[in-house]
Amino acid sequence: MHRTRRHLAVLALLAASLTALVACGKEGSPPVKGPQPDELPVYQVQSAFQLPDSPTWERARKRGHLVVGAKEDQPYMGEKDPATGKYSGFDIEIAKMLSASLGFDPATISFRTIASANRETALQNGQIDYYVGTYTINDNRKKLVGFAGPYYMAGQSLLVRTDENDIHGPQDLDGKRVCSAAGSTPYQRMERDYPKADLVAYDTYSVCVDNLLTYQVDAVTTDDTILMGYAAKVPNELKVVGKPFSKEPYGVGVPRSDNALRFALDDALAFHEKNGDWKKAYDVTLGLSGVPAPQPPAIDRYPAS
Ligand code: GLU
Repeated sequence: MHRTRRHLAVLALLAASLTALVACGKEGSPPVKGPQPDELPVYQVQSAFQLPDSPTWERARKRGHLVVGAKEDQPYMGEKDPATGKYSGFDIEIAKMLSASLGFDPATISFRTIASANRETALQNGQIDYYVGTYTINDNRKKLVGFAGPYYMAGQSLLVRTDENDIHGPQDLDGKRVCSAAGSTPYQRMERDYPKADLVAYDTYSVCVDNLLTYQVDAVTTDDTILMGYAAKVPNELKVVGKPFSKEPYGVGVPRSDNALRFALDDALAFHEKNGDWKKAYDVTLGLSGVPAPQPPAIDRYPAS
């Protein structure tokens, strides 16, 4: 393919600005609708709540606030504004409603960015109390951590440049350069089911997107939720193609042995789904993608092991 130098320079600029935009949320971004702070739901703090059987909760009580793992470069889901340090998105709202149910003011949450490949370790070594960040529940991960939920059902999809006409689904990826995040289920599925694709991994999807914009890769694959956010930032450059080709039930990661915390979070999710908070949170975050709020999936309160 012939590419002029100017074309490349423009793309490099675009990639640099996308990184900046993804990193910085509203500051200087194109007119993508973002949640306005006054539109965000307010979650009622259950100040009398106690959970003495949970070592994680007890530790947080002594500390005075929760430490929650999240993503910081996934528009609509978990995004950090470096100017203010504030996190926003659907996952962040889920983290906040759960905090309120556990008796901690959501404004006091200390968020920590944890990449896909590091989530299990972060929960195992007590770096975070729980994790809310496009985290698929599956049996392999359940050997290492516990999951409350699911609270949303995503599906693996593909992001390509708008000038791409050959890729419509995973069947078109033979010999194509495809990027995903290390340790993610979309990466593992590509490796297993589409071995003829030329797969590369980075720590984060935003680096994959930079590589897509500069023609280093031909597609980025992960959940539709995440890809829709990147496409919305630069709709003239990027598009999501095809139908989702997996089921990714999102759970809240907890330390594996802390069943008391897991059950409390299951109860809290059910409560906020029922009282309308879940839908309100969806509408002002992921709902901005144009997809109306679905019914949340049934919570799987699996027994303590
Ligand atoms: N939901 C998938 C996973 O948990 C992809 C998104 C992510 O990497 O966070 O692996």
